[in-house]
Amino acid sequence: VYNFSAGPSMLPESVLKKAQSELLEYGSSGQSVMEMSHRSSVYDAIIRDVESSLRRVLAIPENYKVGFFQGGASTQFAMVPLNLMTTGKADYIVTGNFSKKAAEEAAKFGEARIVASSKDRNFTYIPDVKAIDYSKDASYLHICENNTIFGTRYAELPQVEGVPLVADMSSCILSRPTDVSKYGLLYFGVQKNVAPAGMAVAVVREDLLGRAAESVPTMLNYKTIIDADSMYNTPPCWCIYMMGLVLHYIEDEVGGLAQMEKRNNEKAALLYDYLDSQEFFTNPVEKKYRSVMNVTFTSPSPELDKKFCAQAEQAGLVNLKGHRLVGGMRASIYNAMPRAGVEKLVEFMREFERENG
Ligand code: PLP
Repeated sequence: VYNFSAGPSMLPESVLKKAQSELLEYGSSGQSVMEMSHRSSVYDAIIRDVESSLRRVLAIPENYKVGFFQGGASTQFAMVPLNLMTTGKADYIVTGNFSKKAAEEAAKFGEARIVASSKDRNFTYIPDVKAIDYSKDASYLHICENNTIFGTRYAELPQVEGVPLVADMSSCILSRPTDVSKYGLLYFGVQKNVAPAGMAVAVVREDLLGRAAESVPTMLNYKTIIDADSMYNTPPCWCIYMMGLVLHYIEDEVGGLAQMEKRNNEKAALLYDYLDSQEFFTNPVEKKYRSVMNVTFTSPSPELDKKFCAQAEQAGLVNLKGHRLVGGMRASIYNAMPRAGVEKLVEFMREFERENG
């Protein structure tokens, strides 16, 4: 089937095959990666390779550190304020459910000022980042760069002098080249474009480390994990290994993030061009802010939406039901979704429109 789930989502087939071939024995170690000590020299080589591959693929500058964290992106919602909110204040732009949750979490530790929100039009756009009245004394500005549920993404990043930009990139990381130097900190849960669920990765500008109060729990201090090369305690070993396979796939099979972006733009264009060419299905998002990863659409009625999802499933197009906050349908077309999957979806939509329009 083609799996349009918003996450956990598809992994490239070649990655799964490689993992399968190494499942029982990694190299000539006599062990599965799942079984080996994280302190062994074999595993040490794996984790080092994963970090250096990520640094290469994302072109991470020297003055940024990388850490692998358990607890998913939601734990990052707390770690960000716990580590960076030195002035007791931070700015948040709310463009959907996850940025709202991040702001609510931060409000437990200080003043999380919502400087802009797109709630007025049900999160179908991104506020104009140049027209926002940012706080001068904010410790950082937080955004969610791609809004998984509402199918929007920033067309332009806010850049406020002296205020580090912190971005949740869970549903867009590795989908295109990223200028890491524009961020103070970026983080992502891995379960969409990077690896099986179970981990978040943070890329942190060096000067932002070491600012957490003494009272911050050891495991929630970025410095603990980063200073120990993500080996302070037992890391999510298997997940890190799988991330390495995905990074090698991006480098060796796709040809890097510029090529990945080209593929993703082409896939998204197939779907959006079709949506724009007819009147049966509707995509509510302002064109400029359309996500290339999550495409939302509705049919003329909730009954037809339901029928669409059921029939699509029978045709091998699964997990198209929209998030409960939005309704309708959502096609998540992350890196691993082949072009053929999107073509089949568009063909199915045309057919459904003909039969029900
Ligand atoms: N941020 C974004 C943009 C997401 O899409 C998600 C999950 O789908 C999360 C955060 C929450 O991630 P996690 O489930 O890893 O805590």
